[in-house]
Amino acid sequence: MTDIYAYEKEPFRRRQEVEVLVIGRQGDHLYAVLDDTLLFPAGGGQPADRGRLSGAAATSGEVRVVDVQRVEGEVRHYLSGDLQLGPATLEVDWNRRFDHMQQHSAQHVLTAVALGRFGWKTTAFHLRPEVCDIELDVAALDGAQLRDLEEAVMEEVRAARQITARRVSQDDLASLPLRSRGLPAGHHGDVRLIEIEGLDLNNCGGTHLQSTAQIECIKLLASDSLRGGARLTWIAGRRVRHRLQEAEARHLQLRHLLSTGDGELVAVTELKLQQLKDSERQLARRLAELAELRLADLLRQPGPWVTAHYDEVDMAFLQRLSRGFLGAAEGRCLFLTASPGDGDHAFLLAQGEGSDIDLEAVGRRVAELLGGRGGGRQPMFQGKAPSLRRRDEAVAVLSGGDIDGICHPLAGQKVG
Ligand SMILES: [Zn+2]
Repeated sequence: MTDIYAYEKEPFRRRQEVEVLVIGRQGDHLYAVLDDTLLFPAGGGQPADRGRLSGAAATSGEVRVVDVQRVEGEVRHYLSGDLQLGPATLEVDWNRRFDHMQQHSAQHVLTAVALGRFGWKTTAFHLRPEVCDIELDVAALDGAQLRDLEEAVMEEVRAARQITARRVSQDDLASLPLRSRGLPAGHHGDVRLIEIEGLDLNNCGGTHLQSTAQIECIKLLASDSLRGGARLTWIAGRRVRHRLQEAEARHLQLRHLLSTGDGELVAVTELKLQQLKDSERQLARRLAELAELRLADLLRQPGPWVTAHYDEVDMAFLQRLSRGFLGAAEGRCLFLTASPGDGDHAFLLAQGEGSDIDLEAVGRRVAELLGGRGGGRQPMFQGKAPSLRRRDEAVAVLSGGDIDGICHPLAGQKVG
């Protein structure tokens, strides 16, 4: 087994012949320890690699490496399936690794420039699936500062500075101009240094590009205040192109939807939203007027049970009617149905004061007849049903009363 792994010595290598030395189980997870590995275990803000094992040890075909972690001094490769001891071919998920190298190397440049040119120290780094961020010990960053920082960082990308790694003893470390001297707790032995020629020297165990030019581009996206400092969100490398492509596709859709050019997208959207608000206010007023008219119709109906059906209204409309009804129709009951135009039909029963029906029992019977479901307590029971085909039967039940234990609303007698 090696002390210095392939991921450190050859970060651009994609495939390697290895020996499976140990198969173990950690909780529910099966893992393998190899004689060497080009898969990086998580560390220093850089997430773990993914990969696959094939060849003699993978008797049932390819086995995916779903995570890699350094545990108790060994590098554990967590597996998607069974593996045996013996020789195997290990491959790294290169797109993921290269993306991580671009983001991670970009962070070195950003951190070095933010400190060297502006005096802002990096206090945290997060490499996330969509965007990255660093936290800086500066209260806030305005637009001009962001532009200046981005320009300064991009100068270093264009300068194509060489990035190299080497190991030094902890004794030699004292005489070197390191950016920071923080070593992980319990660190012993040599220290690995990453140098960006003429820009930065720092200890780091991650994987890096060979030149700042391979970062391609660093785009600062936004900054916000966090923990008394400023959090700076950014992306680098391919992510810049992918994000621009996604933004362009979205703009194209919006241009078609709103029939306008990029320059007018915001103004046209604001106008449409204002029109929508105005329309919603108008609709609410018209619905309130309609409810008043319908309520007057309902109150004119004779009999203990008042029923009606409405198209293209929702449950909220039925509730509004029932609230008006209950305030004006003592001792009477209400059965309303509505078809909103799409989705399930709505039904509502309401029990006026002085009526002694068992509203819950009546509601359950109506829900059953309509093949729907509902609930509620006195004075309202409401529900949804896929069909109103048997609505007439429900009305017959209310007026005729064929349910055990249900009282007629006015008669106050058991019926059925
Ligand atoms: Zn690094």
